[in-house]
Amino acid sequence: METENKILLVLDLDETLIHATEQKLEIDFDFQYANYFIYRRPHLEWFLETMSSHFKLAVWSSADDQYVEEIVNTIKPESIEFEFIWGRTRCTTKRDYTLDEYVHEKRLKKVKKKGFSIEQILMIDDSPEKTKDNYGNAIYVSAFEGDQNDSELKSLAAYLESIKNTLNIRSIEKRGWKNKTV
Ligand SMILES: [Mg+2]
Repeated sequence: METENKILLVLDLDETLIHATEQKLEIDFDFQYANYFIYRRPHLEWFLETMSSHFKLAVWSSADDQYVEEIVNTIKPESIEFEFIWGRTRCTTKRDYTLDEYVHEKRLKKVKKKGFSIEQILMIDDSPEKTKDNYGNAIYVSAFEGDQNDSELKSLAAYLESIKNTLNIRSIEKRGWKNKTV
């Protein structure tokens, strides 16, 4: 199959690729940013490098823009180019009356505006509430909080490779994706 039109993976940052905390964990941190200790999710570099040969990659986080920029530049393997690195100013702030708080949503139409087709955008996030308008375009991962035995990125990579040639990402059932990973 033609794979010229690679699917775009829009990766969340906090608790998806890294964990940042002001409270140091018992394990060694990877690096620091301001008052935060940053822990890379296990297999992160391998995941990004492996995925970059099958997908286009981007990062979109609802955290502060400068934080996002600096963290991404630190964790980015040299061989990789991201299509874009977006922070909170690209999110849409909305009041969630059920949660009684403000939620910074990632609206897919902003990615569409950059020229990506809606059938070819896949968001990877640990927070369903931030992508709820786009659940047909999202895969939810467990939240990473420092567990050094975490293997979510390994499982995710296997699943993503199995669907990399899908023409319309919205047409496949992605819930329960982990059970579909062999
Ligand atoms: Mg997150």
